[in-house]
Amino acid sequence: MLSAQILSEFRQIVGPRGLITAQNQLQTYECDGLTAFREAPAAVLLPETTEQVQAILRLCTRHKVPFVARGAGTGLSGGALPTPGSVVITFSRMTRILNIDYANHQVTVQPGVINANVTAAVAGAGFFYAPDPSSQTVCTLGGNVAENAGGAHCLKYGFTVTHVLEAKVVLPSGELVTLGGKTPDAPGYDLLGVFIGSEGTLGIATEMTLRIVRKPEAVQVLLAAFDSIQAAAQTVSDIIAAGLLPSAMEIMDRLSIVAAEAAVHPHYPMCDGLLIVEVDGPLAEVKLQAAQVLELCRKNGATETRHAVDEADRLLIWKGRKAAFAAAGRLSPNYIVQDGVIPRTALPVVLDKIGQMAKAEKLRVTNVFHAGDGNLHPIVLYNRENPGEEDRAIDLSMRILDLCVETGGSITGEHGVGREKQCSMSYMYAPVDLETMQRVRRAFDPENLANPEKLFPTPRLCGEQSRGHYVPHPVEASGIAEVF
Ligand SMILES: Cc1cc2nc3c(=O)[nH]c(=O)nc-3n(C[C@H](O)[C@H](O)[C@H](O)COP(=O)(O)OP(=O)(O)OC[C@H]3O[C@@H](n4cnc5c(N)ncnc54)[C@H](O)[C@@H]3O)c2cc1C
Repeated sequence: MLSAQILSEFRQIVGPRGLITAQNQLQTYECDGLTAFREAPAAVLLPETTEQVQAILRLCTRHKVPFVARGAGTGLSGGALPTPGSVVITFSRMTRILNIDYANHQVTVQPGVINANVTAAVAGAGFFYAPDPSSQTVCTLGGNVAENAGGAHCLKYGFTVTHVLEAKVVLPSGELVTLGGKTPDAPGYDLLGVFIGSEGTLGIATEMTLRIVRKPEAVQVLLAAFDSIQAAAQTVSDIIAAGLLPSAMEIMDRLSIVAAEAAVHPHYPMCDGLLIVEVDGPLAEVKLQAAQVLELCRKNGATETRHAVDEADRLLIWKGRKAAFAAAGRLSPNYIVQDGVIPRTALPVVLDKIGQMAKAEKLRVTNVFHAGDGNLHPIVLYNRENPGEEDRAIDLSMRILDLCVETGGSITGEHGVGREKQCSMSYMYAPVDLETMQRVRRAFDPENLANPEKLFPTPRLCGEQSRGHYVPHPVEASGIAEVF
């Protein structure tokens, strides 16, 4: 509970319309896309300017109030989940594109700008913003930067980190700092690189300058149907081994195809492993690459191949792929979207193992993922009403992450650690690594107010979980890190 005095000071900063305290309205902010974790915030603040964000954080620091930044709340790892007694700072009133500099291929935006709106704003001049999460029509650039978001086209163009030149960040003390710069490669430590992907634990981004990319001369999307998801995955490895770099390579299994067809009718061939490959560039190069890709698909036993007949068809193909997570709701009342990375060459073996693990648990897992990056998104389907099924689904999804780490991969490709995977961090990192990360965090946030209880394992949260991988590390014992 925040005192009337603190609430009154918040109201003075953001005005009465910028402060939400009514219980029924606070419920909107009690979780992100990972609905299994819920906690209502003490209040929600909707600043309109960087100065207001500075004043809010000064006040939070003075009164030791934890704060959680929130964009659109589409995160899938509980990153924007409030902690008890915290305020949520959301950016639905900071949605302006501040400047477009075509000559330097740059756009400056406020944090609440929706990802797809950047491309919409520059498309007429022949540009686009490359990182394209499947949630791109709703998620915000602030959330993308905090999660280092990816997307289908990151295979060729790179993740968010490749496209942010500069960020204005309000530190928990209220100080405004500029990380990076509009001209690339400044000397000194890459603090912008540290901030990107830090999941709101270092401060709040209130302005970002992004790189935009010229639209390629030609784009072609190919579909190839296979009798197994392993054959589709092998084709991905073969395409890369042949020296080709498509702009996207995505795989969907039969269940995902069924769900996407029911949701948006993309007219996919029905099969056990569908490969979607997009190539772009100069027309002659696109023609050549498309022919080589088709040849490799046939070599791996593709039962059917086709290409988008026009731009509308191409967009429909992508609509089906991008709707796949949400469409999983047509397969099962409940599901967990997992996110891990493995070396691309391990795809066929790991997909096979996931299938065996699911069978042993008598649960269905559907796969739709950024295959070119080795970024897996197994979706574990379950019914909360069946006794014990939710626990088994959570356990299976976490064991899939262990498998990713054992294969030389990682516990998250693009959805972040958040609350969901903090107990898995010790499975991936040695105590000394976690200690180093905590020291970096403390340099930005000495009072532990910026999105606490996220990202790092804690004795309380990880100890309470039956399969928590938590191993205490020395910096906790010394009292420097979070101690609960
Ligand atoms: C259907 C669906 C498909 C998805 N597909 C993809 C995909 O293909 N690729 C991908 O990477 N992700 C994907 N996601 C996950 C999610 O959309 C991304 O992580 C996205 O970047 C979150 O943006 P958001 O605005 O919703 O952020 P939120 O969920 O509101 O917040 C995410 C994190 O960012 C922090 N944050 C928000 N704003 C700021 C700020 N201004 N400063 C500092 N920290 C901030 C929050 O504290 C939180 O830790 C998908 C999600 C859904 C629901």
